[in-house]
Amino acid sequence: MVISQILASGGLWLNLGGTEILVDPGPGCIVQATKRKLKPDKLSAIILSHCHLDHSADVNIMVEAMTQGGLKRHGRLFAPADALGSEPVIFSYLRDYLDGIEVLQEGKSYSVGNISFATPVRHIHPVETYGMVFRTARHTFSCITDTRYFDGLYQYSGSELLIINVVFLEHRAPADHPRMPVDHLSVPDVERLIKELKPKVAILTHFGMNVWRAKPWEIAQRLTEETGVKVIAARDGMRFDLAQLDDG
Ligand SMILES: [Zn+2]
Repeated sequence: MVISQILASGGLWLNLGGTEILVDPGPGCIVQATKRKLKPDKLSAIILSHCHLDHSADVNIMVEAMTQGGLKRHGRLFAPADALGSEPVIFSYLRDYLDGIEVLQEGKSYSVGNISFATPVRHIHPVETYGMVFRTARHTFSCITDTRYFDGLYQYSGSELLIINVVFLEHRAPADHPRMPVDHLSVPDVERLIKELKPKVAILTHFGMNVWRAKPWEIAQRLTEETGVKVIAARDGMRFDLAQLDDG
């Protein structure tokens, strides 16, 4: 999906009471952000869930943009240790442009302005990967990123909104790609998680090709009927206002 750009891969742009945070700036983030009139120099932080290219390819240009080409030392980068280690995803010369780099670890929490976020459980994925639970003054929401299914994901309970990466249609490698790594969530995994975690709203994103072919909006409709939770399939450029969580 990323190679074809059938769907954009620029990540999530959060605006939480004026604190702007970018999560997982994948390929095309700078193009998508500028096209949508989002202002990188307003960002307070960039968070990488993990170092895979579809989540991190534009991190260097977004640091450059956040800091106005290094003119304004500003903003922080949060990433797992292995994104910063022997094969770092961020150029060393850009690190000085930042106010700081913080290493994500399991069970820790972090703050950005008046927002806090936690990384309760390391995901199961070929590289060190975390999901996040964000807390604002009024809302709590979670991102479950790239992972295979495991019971530890139940630690993401208590969020009003769950944003969840769903790559596979079924819980096994597709017949045409038998060697595809399966450290990703499938539609049945996501159904189970939504039933257990009971958010008010779930947003599905990060679709693999087979999910796309199966029409994510139809999958979301079916999951809404089967779980009783409002399930939305993300679209490029979609905005979700957290105030929607307050209605009913
Ligand atoms: Zn990944």
